[in-house]
Amino acid sequence: MDIDTTLAWIRAIAAAIDEHADELTRMDAAIGDGDHGVNMRRGFSAVLAVVERMRFNTIGELLLRTGTTLVSTVGGASGPLYGAALRAAGKRLDAPEATPEQLLEALTAGMAAMQRLGGAKPGDKTIIDACAPALEALRKALDDGEDLPTAARAAADAAEEGMRATIPMIARRGRASYLGPRSQGYQDPGATSTALMFRALAQVADG
Ligand code: ADP
Ligand code: MG
Repeated sequence: MDIDTTLAWIRAIAAAIDEHADELTRMDAAIGDGDHGVNMRRGFSAVLAVVERMRFNTIGELLLRTGTTLVSTVGGASGPLYGAALRAAGKRLDAPEATPEQLLEALTAGMAAMQRLGGAKPGDKTIIDACAPALEALRKALDDGEDLPTAARAAADAAEEGMRATIPMIARRGRASYLGPRSQGYQDPGATSTALMFRALAQVADG
């Protein structure tokens, strides 16, 4: 992973969010306040506007800038969470290149930052329900000696499975938790945007 690949990843996330914004918003309308797609689209278009006209010396600088921009533009709960994750990951990637293992450790630190900030555990019907299985699959694939494209594909598959597994869950964090058991039967929008991010990583890692 290098700076160009990381930039390609951010562009791929922005494109996926743009493509799926209406769907994310519809999901959030069912169990939240109907702004997740709008929030994320605003955030990532702001990120592109910022990072496309800058030069970065390390992957970390790029991720820190991306995280800071998300915190200041997304608005909803997801902005500070994704922003904290990317900033924590960025702090671990203080070089122009990273090995797959370093990327895994950075993303793991990113998830820990989201959990410190938001207090969500697996099963609470949040971003964590896509992120935790994705990172687990990434770790397992790398431990098994797979290369980054294969490991990232496994992570994206696991994120999508985790995303679908939020449907029967009762939300315990965020706005959807106000609905209690009435949040059952709907896929979590944040878990869905997280799955888009891991699918984007798999696409970029594949070249
Ligand atoms: P808001 O809820 O403020 O309108 P968004 O609509 O942008 O923010 O994002 C909603 C998503 O944020 C939810 O679907 C959920 O996945 C995620 N989320 C909310 N609270 C938390 C939390 N404490 N930890 C992890 N994810 C959370
Ligand atoms: Mg919302």
